[in-house]
Amino acid sequence: MDDLSMIMAVSSIIGMIVVGVVTYRRGKLTGRREQEQTDNKKQREAFQKDIFSRDEQIQNLREEIHNIYYLNRRYLTFMMNVSAIIHRLNTAKSDEVISTTLNLVRDLILADMVELYRLDVVDNRLKKLGAPGQNENDEKRVSYSLGEGIVGMAARDGMVKIRGRDDKGNVSQKDTDSQLWMAAPINIGGHLFGVIAIGQVKNPTGNENNLMKIIADIGGMVLVNRSIIGEAEREANTDPLTGLSNRRHFFQMTQISVDKSIMEGNTPISIFLFDIDDFKNYNDKNGHEAGDELLRELGSLVLNVTRKGSVAARYGGEEFIVMLPGITKVDATIYAERLRENIAVHPFPHREKQPRGCVSISGGIACFPFDARSIKDAIKLADESLYRAKSEGKNCVIAHESFLFSDPDVEKETDSSF
Ligand code: GH3
Ligand code: MG
Ligand code: MG
Repeated sequence: MDDLSMIMAVSSIIGMIVVGVVTYRRGKLTGRREQEQTDNKKQREAFQKDIFSRDEQIQNLREEIHNIYYLNRRYLTFMMNVSAIIHRLNTAKSDEVISTTLNLVRDLILADMVELYRLDVVDNRLKKLGAPGQNENDEKRVSYSLGEGIVGMAARDGMVKIRGRDDKGNVSQKDTDSQLWMAAPINIGGHLFGVIAIGQVKNPTGNENNLMKIIADIGGMVLVNRSIIGEAEREANTDPLTGLSNRRHFFQMTQISVDKSIMEGNTPISIFLFDIDDFKNYNDKNGHEAGDELLRELGSLVLNVTRKGSVAARYGGEEFIVMLPGITKVDATIYAERLRENIAVHPFPHREKQPRGCVSISGGIACFPFDARSIKDAIKLADESLYRAKSEGKNCVIAHESFLFSDPDVEKETDSSF
């Protein structure tokens, strides 16, 4: 081999090596680049995925914050309303407390329907209160036994019950039919009064059960306070022996009636004052206990014939007074005569031992403002007539004969104190 051939062979070998190396290097480079590109793509995708999931998390958090804000606002509104709720319930008339409670549940919980089930203590069932005018004894009225459905469970367990959460194994067709969702018991002084039940709630916050419980408890408490206050008031106003009003309450009521009479242009207020005849004799012959029993029985006779709006009171030992607002002296005399007659024919024990063979009363009548310019003066005139009735043989009623009747100044001079 000559030199030239040698050189050419070597150079072609070198050329081949160089091409091989370059091709190899280039191939390696391309492979690396492709790998890098794939890696980058994967990274980008992972990054994007990460961003999406973060976006989702942010969205979820946003919704949660919104829910908490909404819940807080509902709570805040409720908390700010608590004193207004108590005020609304406290100022409602007793028979309105329950309807006010139901309205509060509807307004604050935004339930599509609110129902009240009263416990009927006779058959121990919770009966749905109907719309006004509906027959209370309607056999078809929805009712639950204790423990039946969410209404019965709320009553039995004394706690809020939710359909789907608490009624597993105890699903009531009635709940499904009436679409009730939640029920809360109302207790009054430790006794079950009834159950408030609601239908579906718009935008539930998950705390409706707590709100229901609070409102039901406040409603129950107001009713308890009502009965305690009512009881205390009744005690303070009532004569314990006869059950009639006492003097204090009588005069309180008199003041109210006088104010009303003046406002209405001097409408009449008649006064009937009466005293049991020969009561000392009754006590002496039959004992003080029997005397007390007579006073008690006579008290209920008086209440029986006295219409609502009039006030009958025990004025003294065996002396009674009745105020008859809006009743003229003529009508008051008819009322007094009927009462006297009722007493005279009533089969009181030992009545045969009384001088007239019966228990009797004597009474006097006067009328404000026609006989007297104040109730106190009318009572004085009625007392004078009573005295006359006694002296004219007892067991009779005498009305005061008026001289003021045609007095044109009567209206101006009326004394607003009694
Ligand atoms: P008159 O027909 O004139 O009214 O005669 P009277 O006997 O009814 O009247 P008198 O004033 O002489 O006696 C009233 C009696 O009423 C005397 C008193 O012991 C009795 N008395 C007053 N309060 C009570 C009471 O709460 N219970 C009993 N059992 N007796 C009473
Ligand atoms: Mg007497
Ligand atoms: Mg007397």
